[in-house]
Amino acid sequence: MHIIVLVKQVPNTSEVRLDPKTGNLIREGVESIINPEDRHALEAALQIKDDVGATITVLSMGPPQSMEVVCEALAMGADRGILLTDRAFSGADTWATSSTLGLAIKHIGDFDLILAGRQAVDGDTAQIGPQVAEYLGIPQLTYVTKLEIHQGRVVADRIIEQGCEHIESPLPLLATCIAALNQPRYPTVAGILQATSERTPVEIWNAADIGAKAHMVGLPGSLTQVVRTFTPKEARDTQYLEGPPTSVASRLIEAFRERNIHLGE
Ligand SMILES: Cc1cc2nc3c(=O)[nH]c(=O)nc-3n(C[C@H](O)[C@H](O)[C@H](O)COP(=O)(O)OP(=O)(O)OC[C@H]3O[C@@H](n4cnc5c(N)ncnc54)[C@H](O)[C@@H]3O)c2cc1C
Repeated sequence: MHIIVLVKQVPNTSEVRLDPKTGNLIREGVESIINPEDRHALEAALQIKDDVGATITVLSMGPPQSMEVVCEALAMGADRGILLTDRAFSGADTWATSSTLGLAIKHIGDFDLILAGRQAVDGDTAQIGPQVAEYLGIPQLTYVTKLEIHQGRVVADRIIEQGCEHIESPLPLLATCIAALNQPRYPTVAGILQATSERTPVEIWNAADIGAKAHMVGLPGSLTQVVRTFTPKEARDTQYLEGPPTSVASRLIEAFRERNIHLGE
């Protein structure tokens, strides 16, 4: 079984700040990590490897420093690491990112299962997993909370609005994973030594390596354009009323009256 895990390097913060002048993400002073849900995707792949045997390839697209997250995935137990990095990839929207990842997966060759996080904490769109599946023409399972392989088939649970859906499906398919799926393991010392040794080099691929032409990737390959990015201004002034309930209630009624809000009889 060959499992490909998609991992993205993201800033270690839930409060993404934008430079008000350029609209770019402020990355200075913010540590970078593997996107949290991608660790759960990798753990799911490692558990399948432990249970039924598998080879795990980790694939990331990003600037050269994304090498760190690929190395961390190798240290956790992945077998092969590939970093897609090229100036031609910059400015990619979600479609250009998905199609570039999809092209790289076609270049990797045969696979049985692709695992991704549901959502990246910086871009936050949750579009990449589904779009990669569409690009490759394979089925997809999103919001997965349980994932096992039985007799070459996927047995999975996924969260839906009304509860939980139990699915069995043939391979290949792509699944997007959420935190409820498992508890990711820590890299071992042996894993770290092996990941940083020359015996397990991270493969670095550029646009030419995956057969991508300039118009297919980065800004030229993007179907959307960012017109402007900005931090929304607080449109409303929030006041908190504290104190005993009767006092809060009468001050609230007073505040409504001041604003000519009719409370009825
Ligand atoms: C017009 C436009 C221009 C942009 N320009 C830039 C830019 O210049 N520089 C820039 O950094 N971003 C840019 N972005 C943002 C970039 O497109 C997104 O960060 C990227 O497409 C991933 O989307 P997301 O973060 O919402 O991922 P999600 O869809 O939320 O991620 C879901 C999962 O997909 C996988 N995944 C996501 N991204 C990657 C990746 N790169 N490698 C491997 N796996 C991945 C992970 O498993 C992740 O958990 C731009 C976006 C737009 C719309």
